[in-house]
Amino acid sequence: MLIRPWWRKPTISSDPIVIIGGGAGGLELATKLGKYFLKTKQKIILIDQNRKHVWKPLLHEVASGSLDADIDCVDYLSHGARNGFLFQLGVVDGLNRESKHVLLKQLNDQDGALIFPARQVKYSLLVFALGSVTNDFNTLGAKQYCTFLDTCENAERFHTELLNAFLRLKGDDTRSSLNIAIIGGGATGVELAAEIVKTSELLRNYGYDHLSKKSLDIHIVEAGPRILAALPERIAQSAQQELEALGITVNTNTAVTEVTPNSVITKDGREIASSITVWAAGIKGPDFMQAIGGLESAKNNQLLVNPFLQTPLDTDIFALGDCASCTTLKGIKVPPRAQAAHQMASTVFTNIIAKLALKPLVAYEYIDYGSLVSLSSYTAVGSLMGNINQRSMFIEGKLARLVYIGLYRMHQVTLFGVLKTLLIVLVGRVNRALRPNLKLH
Ligand SMILES: Cc1cc2nc3c(=O)[nH]c(=O)nc-3n(C[C@H](O)[C@H](O)[C@H](O)COP(=O)(O)OP(=O)(O)OC[C@H]3O[C@@H](n4cnc5c(N)ncnc54)[C@H](O)[C@@H]3O)c2cc1C
Repeated sequence: MLIRPWWRKPTISSDPIVIIGGGAGGLELATKLGKYFLKTKQKIILIDQNRKHVWKPLLHEVASGSLDADIDCVDYLSHGARNGFLFQLGVVDGLNRESKHVLLKQLNDQDGALIFPARQVKYSLLVFALGSVTNDFNTLGAKQYCTFLDTCENAERFHTELLNAFLRLKGDDTRSSLNIAIIGGGATGVELAAEIVKTSELLRNYGYDHLSKKSLDIHIVEAGPRILAALPERIAQSAQQELEALGITVNTNTAVTEVTPNSVITKDGREIASSITVWAAGIKGPDFMQAIGGLESAKNNQLLVNPFLQTPLDTDIFALGDCASCTTLKGIKVPPRAQAAHQMASTVFTNIIAKLALKPLVAYEYIDYGSLVSLSSYTAVGSLMGNINQRSMFIEGKLARLVYIGLYRMHQVTLFGVLKTLLIVLVGRVNRALRPNLKLH
C-alpha cells in the first residue's frame, strides 16, 4: 500500500475523484485514496446504490444463513468518515464526458416517496468499479422464477424463502422433500449447494426436527462437460465427489432452456422438479454500461480498458474489477474474481497518484494466486500459485479452508489495517460462542 510520507505534498485536482461502486475493489480504492489525501483539499467521493458493503464472495453464506450480513457488513458512511472519503447513496445510470458529470437516477424510498431527484456529480478522475450482474442469457422464465445472488438483498430474501420452505415441509404430508435447482456449476453454485445442506443439518438443532437427509433434493445443472470449468480438472473431480457424498445431484452436459414456477426444463427434454431455483451461470456488466458516454465496451457490457486500467478513449476514466474488460501486457484476459478486483484497486490507486503528479503509469499484471472452493464447513478444495509458476499445488481440507478465508482477511486488512482486523476476528470468535451458528430469522 502506498502511504503518503508526511513531508510530501500530494498533487491535488480541483474537482473530486469519484469512484462508482464500493465493492471488493471500489471500497478498497476509496479507503486507500481517502487515507492518502487525508487532511488535504482533495475530495474523494464513493457512490454506491447500497448503504452497506458486504463482500460479494460471502453472499452464498448470507443466502444459506451461515453469515448474518448485518454483523459482517461495513457501513459506508462511517467507514468514509474514518478514512477520509465522502459517501453518496445513489444509482448511477449515465455519464456526460464533455462536462465530466456522472448521472444518478432519482432515488425513492421503499414506499415510493422521493429522497433525491435525479442528479449529477462532477468528477476530475472517475473510476468505474460497479461489478457485474448475473447473465441469464434471456432464458425463458429465468427472470420471473429464479433467484440471482447479485446483491445482499437477494441473498437475504433467498434465506427467508429457504426457511419458509423448510417450515412448509412440516405441515405438508404430500411432499417429503424440498426440491432446489441451482443452474450453473461454477464456484457460486457449488458453494451454495453445500451451504444449503449445512443449513438443513443445523436447523435440526433449532426445532426443525422434521428435517432429515431425505428432506432435500438439490440438483446442480451445468451446461458444460464438468463443474468448476475455470478451475483445474482435479479440483472439479474432488468437489464433485464431495457434493455427491452430501447427497447433491450433479448434472453435467445439461443446458437449461426454460424455467417454470416448479421446474427446470433441459435441452434434452428432461424436467427437473424445483420449487426454489437459483441462476448462477455467468455474469455480465449492467446493461446501461453498454457504450456508456460513448466509451468502448465488450459484448457483455464490460468497459474496455488498456493495461493501465484506463478507458482508451478517455484516460481520465478508469475501470476495475468485474465491470472491466482487461487483457494484460502478457496477454492474460483477467477473470472476474475478487483477487483481481483487489489487485486492480492497488494499480488504479498507484496510477491515480502518478497521473496527478504527471508521472508514468504502471501496467496492471494479473497474478493468479490460485482458486479455492469452499464446501461449507465440510471441506474446501483448490489450487495455489495459479499462474505464478507453471505447477499449481492442489490443496484440500482445513488448509484449503484457511487459505480461502485468507482472501477475505486480506480485504479486511486493506479496509481496516492489521490490528482492527485481528480484533474483528476475535469478536467473530466470541460471537460464534454466544450466538446460534445459523441466522434463524
Ligand atoms: C456468491 C458469490 C461467490 C463468489 N465467490 C468468489 C470466490 O470465492 N473467489 C473470488 O475470487 N471471487 C468470487 N466471486 C466473485 C467476486 O465476488 C467478484 O469478482 C468481485 O466481488 C468483483 O468485485 P468488484 O469490485 O468488481 O464488484 P462488487 O464487489 O460486485 O461491487 C460492486 C459494487 O457496485 C455497486 N453498484 C452496482 N451497480 C451500481 C450502480 N448502478 N450505481 C451505484 N452503485 C452500483 C454495488 O452495490 C457493489 O457495492 C463470487 C461472487 C458471488 C456472487
